[in-house]
Amino acid sequence: MTIGILGGGQLGYMLALAGYPLGLHFRFLDPSPEAPVGRIANRVTADFNDHHALEKFSHGLEVVTYEFENVPVAAAKFLAERVPVYPPTVALEEAQERLREKRLFRRLEIPTTEFAEVAKREDLDAAVRQVGLPAMLKTCRMGYDGKGQWLLRTAEDVEKARLELPEVPLILEKFVPFTREVSILGVRGRSGEIVFYPLIENHHRGGILRLSLAPAPNLAEGLQLEAEDAARKLLKALGYVGVLCIEFFEVGGRLLANEMAPRVHNSGHWTIEGAVTSQFENHLRAILGMPLGSTAAVGVSAMINLIGEIPESAEVLNVSNAHLHLYGKEPRAGRKLGHVTVRADRPEKLQQRLAELPEFFRRPEYCLEKVLPELLVRRA
Ligand code: AMP
Repeated sequence: MTIGILGGGQLGYMLALAGYPLGLHFRFLDPSPEAPVGRIANRVTADFNDHHALEKFSHGLEVVTYEFENVPVAAAKFLAERVPVYPPTVALEEAQERLREKRLFRRLEIPTTEFAEVAKREDLDAAVRQVGLPAMLKTCRMGYDGKGQWLLRTAEDVEKARLELPEVPLILEKFVPFTREVSILGVRGRSGEIVFYPLIENHHRGGILRLSLAPAPNLAEGLQLEAEDAARKLLKALGYVGVLCIEFFEVGGRLLANEMAPRVHNSGHWTIEGAVTSQFENHLRAILGMPLGSTAAVGVSAMINLIGEIPESAEVLNVSNAHLHLYGKEPRAGRKLGHVTVRADRPEKLQQRLAELPEFFRRPEYCLEKVLPELLVRRA
């Protein structure tokens, strides 16, 4: 059985690694000849709008999925006429446009921050009046890892932003003074079966995810169910099949949905070692119509992203229960090159193991002071 995957980055790489023990084969389509999956799977290098290449790519595939949400919808639709495509293309369409996504949240009564459309520059003042300051101005499309965003705190910020705004549709969102960011991964199978992973606590720097803790520590009662309720509504409304990630702000003891990703997600990498069934395996099980696996956490985990630089492997592997994942990409500033997951049976033990990680991880961008408060004291 061969599975087709659109996008050949690290998420596809880990999907394939999860699928090999199940006897699956993989074929990837990515415009870049450098896509990491080239190391381990059959890769077609072509543009997503090359119909001839898409046609050829689709031959003999059991099912097609994607590992990157900015896949052109037209390409997914073209393939869907030839072979089942999961998650359904409507999920791509909803997730690719922030305004549409927020309106979907609102329609499904999933709490989200206040927002206003800024279709053109002239709409900015009315939007600021409606939403108030501080606010985040974001491009509706192609935003990821904090790109295409402006934080507006004052009237001067609004004036400055006005001068540099691109001529594209934007959305203004009320700034959320959140206590923390969390995410949930829901999985829906072809039969309609739904399972959820425990909520994950996420820490970002410069708009990029740096550290995830799972299950999210010190979770107030009810938040897991609140997140599951939001995810269930989306999974059902979209007729979804596969893994769906929703990112939330926790504020005043409630969750506000920020955005969703119709794919396996960086905040779920810990599930490889930290859950009974990984998000990658469960995504494959879902799109193949197989029974879903248990999402229970095995102890507690911390996942640290390696951005732009890689530590000495031996120094990481020297720590008990530390797992190193390198994606085979050329180092470049801001690029996700790999991740490390550290697992333990108890939070205190996890802290102990994180403290044993090499000096490399002591820099503020790794956010380890969130779990090792003594680092904060040392820096102050
Ligand atoms: P996004 O691309 O929407 O995930 O935004 C990237 C990061 O910017 C988020 O993870 C938050 O840390 C921050 N952010 C985005 N929107 C808001 C908001 N409305 N209020 C506060 N922080 C935000």
